[in-house]
Amino acid sequence: MDASDLSLLPPDIAEASRSFEEQLAACNSLDALLRLKGTFTGREHSHAARLMEALKAAPKEQKKDLGALANQLKQAWEAGIKARQDGLEAARRRAAELAAKMDPDLPPPMPMRGALHPLQRLQDRLVDIFASLGFHVEEGPEIETEAHNFDGLNIPGDHPARGSSDTFYLEQHPELLLRTHTSPVQVRVLRRLAPELDARGGIRFVAPGRVYRKDDIDPTHSPMFHQVEGMLVGKGIGMHHLKGTLEYAMRALFGPDTRIRLRPSYFPFVEPGAELDVSCPLCAGKGCRVCKGSGWVELLGAGLIHPNVLRYAGIDPETWSGFAFGLGVERTAMMVSQTPDLRLFFENDQRFIRQMGGLD
Ligand SMILES: [Zn+2]
Repeated sequence: MDASDLSLLPPDIAEASRSFEEQLAACNSLDALLRLKGTFTGREHSHAARLMEALKAAPKEQKKDLGALANQLKQAWEAGIKARQDGLEAARRRAAELAAKMDPDLPPPMPMRGALHPLQRLQDRLVDIFASLGFHVEEGPEIETEAHNFDGLNIPGDHPARGSSDTFYLEQHPELLLRTHTSPVQVRVLRRLAPELDARGGIRFVAPGRVYRKDDIDPTHSPMFHQVEGMLVGKGIGMHHLKGTLEYAMRALFGPDTRIRLRPSYFPFVEPGAELDVSCPLCAGKGCRVCKGSGWVELLGAGLIHPNVLRYAGIDPETWSGFAFGLGVERTAMMVSQTPDLRLFFENDQRFIRQMGGLD
C-alpha cells in the first residue's frame, strides 16, 4: 500500500491531496494555516472527515486499503501542518524580539550616503596640517596667462615645459593656457600682498588645486591631477626653515617616526632646489616593493624662492627670502594606499572608493 495510490479516493480529495504541499507552502500566516487545517483535518466537512465517511460506505473488500491510505494521508497532513505552524510561530517570536529591541529614538536605516572623495580628503588633510602652522589657503584660476604660469616663475621662453606638446593652450587665446602647476598662485599672491609685506611681516599660504598636462592617461599619468603647493616669505628664511617645516608636515601626515631627506634638484623657480624623500611609510624604511627596496620614497619638490620670482612680484630679494614646495595629491594617495593604477581614483567605482574609506 502506497500513499501515492490515490485512485481509491473520491476525485476531489485526491486532487486536494496532490496540492497539499503547495497549499501548505503558500500559508504565510497562522490564520491562513488555520484555515488550511480546517479544510484538511477539521472535525467536520474536512477532507479527513469525508475520508472517514467514504471508508464507512466503501465495499468490504476496499475497506482495508482505503483505511490504511486514509490514515497515512491524515498523519501526513497533520505532521505538515504542525511543522509549518512551528515555523510560523518561531518567525513571529523573532519578529517580536526584534521589535522589542528596536529603539524608536534611533534613526531609521538610511540609503548609502555619499562622502568626500579620497583625493579630496587627502588634500584637506594636507591643508589642515599647514593651517596648523599658520598657512592660509589661496586659490587661483585654472585658466592662466603664460606670464603667471611661466614668466613669473623664472621659466624661460625656450623651456620645454612651455611647448605645445606639454601644455594645453587655448586656441582662440594663445596667451592663455590650462595651468600646468599650482605655482602661478604664488605669482598672484606675492604680487597682491607685496605692498603689505612690511606690515604683515611675511606671507605663508598653501594653494591646493587642479592642474593640467598634455599627458595620455595611463597607470601613472593623467592629463588632469591635483597639487598642493605651499610658500613662506619672511626675513632670513633658509633651508633649515624649509626642512623643519616639511619634517613637521610629513610626520603629521605619515606618523611621528617618519624621517625626511633632501636631495639637490633643479626647478627654475627655486634656488637651491631639492627633492624631498620620506622614509617609506609602508615598510618604515626597511625596504619593500613600493620603495623598491630603498626605504625611501620621493614625494615632493621644494627649495628657496628664486630671487627672480621675488623681483617679478615686486619684492626685494635683498630684504626678503622664502621657501616653496609642491606635491602631487594623486601620487601621494597612490603611495599611501598602495594603489597601482592612478585611473582608479577617477573611475568612481564604489568598491574602490569604499575601500579607500570614502563611503559609509
Ligand atoms: Zn618601503
